[in-house]
Amino acid sequence: MIMDDCIFCKIANGQIGSETVYEDERFRAILDLSPAVKGHVLILPKEHFDDLFEADDETLGEALKLAKKLGAAVKKALDCDGINIVQNNGEAAGQTVHHLHFHIIPRYNGGEKIVTWPQLKSDPKEQAVIAARIIENI
Ligand code: 5GP
Ligand code: ZN
Repeated sequence: MIMDDCIFCKIANGQIGSETVYEDERFRAILDLSPAVKGHVLILPKEHFDDLFEADDETLGEALKLAKKLGAAVKKALDCDGINIVQNNGEAAGQTVHHLHFHIIPRYNGGEKIVTWPQLKSDPKEQAVIAARIIENI
């Protein structure tokens, strides 16, 4: 399904122009308009899914394979030392466009930290409780 009020539906399906680096029947990959670094690519499925949880497993599998293929191309093209694949779900996680997408972000040795989090101390008892709760919900 394509949503009328979704900018990534319009971009993915060619109704709005973009700097496209890859296109097939199911996906379009574009350069991010406000890149974290030069060569920041977004993979968009042409079909609308709000996020990871709405998408079917086949689309997700294909998207990750495409992230590998395009990640390798970005690595060669930008001569970077590493690649982050980032995928945000929900506003709390930093998702601003609610159409599933994968970020491919080139990274350089000694470069600025982009994907980072505090490394909290963990308590073994609490960890066991949390693990049990997750296991119950799989
Ligand atoms: P999110 O924060 O939802 O994971 O990522 C959304 C990304 O889409 C951001 O990095 C933002 O710069 C990019 N973006 C938002 N609107 C447009 C647009 O119209 N064109 C392109 N190429 N990128 C966009
Ligand atoms: Zn959409």
